[in-house]
Amino acid sequence: MIENSTGTIARFAPSPSGRLHLGHAYSALFTKRAAAGGRFLLRIEDIDLARCRPEFEEGIYEDLAWLGLKWETPARRQSDHFDDYHAALRKLDENGLIYPCFCTRKDIQREIGQAGRAPHGPDGILYPGTCRALSPEDRAALAAAGEPHALRLDMRKAVDAAGPLTFDDRERGRMIVDGPGCGDVVLARKDVPTSYHLAVTVDDAIQGVTLVTRGEDLLHATHIHRILQALLGLPEPEYWHHGLLTGEDGKRYAKRDKSLTIQALREAGRGPAEVRKLAGFAD
Ligand SMILES: [Zn+2]
Repeated sequence: MIENSTGTIARFAPSPSGRLHLGHAYSALFTKRAAAGGRFLLRIEDIDLARCRPEFEEGIYEDLAWLGLKWETPARRQSDHFDDYHAALRKLDENGLIYPCFCTRKDIQREIGQAGRAPHGPDGILYPGTCRALSPEDRAALAAAGEPHALRLDMRKAVDAAGPLTFDDRERGRMIVDGPGCGDVVLARKDVPTSYHLAVTVDDAIQGVTLVTRGEDLLHATHIHRILQALLGLPEPEYWHHGLLTGEDGKRYAKRDKSLTIQALREAGRGPAEVRKLAGFAD
């Protein structure tokens, strides 16, 4: 591995499910600056093949280059690496840490309704654990019947196996990992053989990322990722969760803001320096 003087390896990891907007520009420029002369990597997060499109991946390259960002090529494209995620799932399975979940959204809502309470975790309502209690025979029967299923982390077992964990955030300092607060998160979806949490954790390790930068809206995910790192024997990076760039209305930028895509700004005659400035990075 090539090391620079600072040794920092950071990555920008967008999904090609739309054109990049100003919020992405901020995150990419933030990451480049955080790499502090170290290595700046790019990852295309396209596990959701139904939503991601090749033309949007091309758009990412086009927009980043136009903004003046240089990344190491080739970028890592997640959909080329389902084998890596499968290997991680197999390892967790061998240790009895995952289980198949056959629930539909409706099943989960019904279960929660019956319990009369709906504790929330980072991915929404906490999964009530229905399928954790299935017998091996029931699991085998449902699988044999071709029932689609997700794979979930058995968080209680995972926390026992991982032991107490922390992570270090550049702004927040040392944080204590709260596994139970995340619930039995999905590690492989019914329609996709991995999940955001698993793919990101495996990729950051494979890419040798030493500083993970991302929006503070994903702070919760780091609890899950630290647990997965511990279970999979992966190194612990440092974290830097940044604030989210907001528009004049105080709302964060999103895909719906079509006028604020890098492409739209470019076509409206704005220059790269101007757009960098709009994203809060004056030259
Ligand atoms: Zn279930």
